[in-house]
Amino acid sequence: MTQYDYDLFVIGAGSGGVRAGRIAAKHGARVAVAEEYRVGGTCVIRGCVPKKLFVYASKFAEEFEDAVGFGWTTQKVSFDWWTLLENKNKEIDRLNKAYIRNLEASGAELILERATLLDAHTVELASGRKVTANYILVATGATPFVPRHLPGHELAITSNEAFELESLPRRIVIVGGGYIAVEFAGIFNGLGVETILVYRGEQILRGFDDDLRNHLAAEMVKKGIEIRTKSDVAMIERSGDGVRVTLEDGSRIGAGQVMFATGRVPNTHGLGLEAAGVHLTPHGAVQVDAYSKSSQENIYAVGDVTNRVNLTPVAIREGHAFADTVFGKAPRAVDHSLVPTAVFSQPELGTVGLTEAQARERHQKVDIYKTSFRPMKHTLSGRDERMLMKLIVDGGTDKVLGCHIAGPDAGEMAQLLGIAITCGATKAQFDATLAVHPTASEELVTLRDKWKG
Ligand code: NDP
Repeated sequence: MTQYDYDLFVIGAGSGGVRAGRIAAKHGARVAVAEEYRVGGTCVIRGCVPKKLFVYASKFAEEFEDAVGFGWTTQKVSFDWWTLLENKNKEIDRLNKAYIRNLEASGAELILERATLLDAHTVELASGRKVTANYILVATGATPFVPRHLPGHELAITSNEAFELESLPRRIVIVGGGYIAVEFAGIFNGLGVETILVYRGEQILRGFDDDLRNHLAAEMVKKGIEIRTKSDVAMIERSGDGVRVTLEDGSRIGAGQVMFATGRVPNTHGLGLEAAGVHLTPHGAVQVDAYSKSSQENIYAVGDVTNRVNLTPVAIREGHAFADTVFGKAPRAVDHSLVPTAVFSQPELGTVGLTEAQARERHQKVDIYKTSFRPMKHTLSGRDERMLMKLIVDGGTDKVLGCHIAGPDAGEMAQLLGIAITCGATKAQFDATLAVHPTASEELVTLRDKWKG
């Protein structure tokens, strides 16, 4: 290994790259991690973390309203966008420093420069310095996809800019129906921005359980968000201080901002991957095997750049498994088949396992248990909001195949349900579990009647 400058060179200091670098260093490897932007990656710098802080911020509007039913007087409350931005930035700076500290404490060397591949073992840094490594890990993440064929696309923002807006618009058009679109629709709406979500499909959140999708869409509309399905943007023009969005049906919407939340593309462009013999998928992602190895023997890739399951905990798991496999003499493939996830929409979604449609495709007999109810808090707040819980059960084996929740703390519940479902829990075991009262999640262990609908 000594013929190279490093045993491992990681390109990208996001969730997957940092975890891989730290663990490889702990296994005794000489590691360098290169980063061209900020250490922490999308999740920490302009993704999950600031997004969740914004979600908290946006929920206070309803909290103040709900408090009245409990006897509180909440007059003269106001919101200051700049206070939120500054405090969010301070927290991101703190996390960024913590990531740098932890990486360096592991013994890995951090190089704050863009790195590109010259061949399978040689990396060129932006400064022109060339270094060599026995193994290379590509962990460069993904970037927002913007439909560049659309006239006026350059007038739109993406989630990257949404975290740094100088001021909140009076009205925003959000294009897309995935995670980012629905989460930001909730954020902007909660912060008082008139929010219009434009989605090309039949219903938002394609791929999620249909009951959950319908429930969320209905609740979002109740909160004042306008959802235009089966609509797509034809053109964007500047109009006064804002924009005018023309939809394909010819209708026009004036707004302060338009935001594309139309998916993300892997950051593989201009990295020199082809020169290093690394094959890409048609989507531009690094093609890898179950151990995250690319078509080039010594080059691996983890996280969003591989476009497998684009979630932070998955990238972290892949980075860790890579380091154990290559440097820890403990080969380990990551199981992507059961990934609990949350959408921080309002109301929140938590989901683990198969949707009803997937279960019906794969299993002969499927039993559905579901309930929709008004959360206890809203008996006094008076808010017209319902919670949905749904269990998908294999009618043959009694195994719980999936669980889908919409409502407060659904993400927290998904994490714990993930343990039960990963352990292969049966419906009978759910039923044998004592309830915690009064909670919403007790419904999950008291669902007795199969859904006949
Ligand atoms: P998603 O893939 O979730 O959604 C993309 C949306 O954009 C879909 O509704 C898609 O429509 C639509 N779309 C794609 N291309 C076009 C186009 N050319 N014109 C119009 N609409 C288009 O991507 P996001 O950007 O929302 O998020 C990226 C990823 O980041 C997520 O998939 C997720 O993995 C991760 N993420 C996770 C979060 C969490 O864990 N809470 C939060 C945020 C992001 P269609 O359905 O028809 O394809």
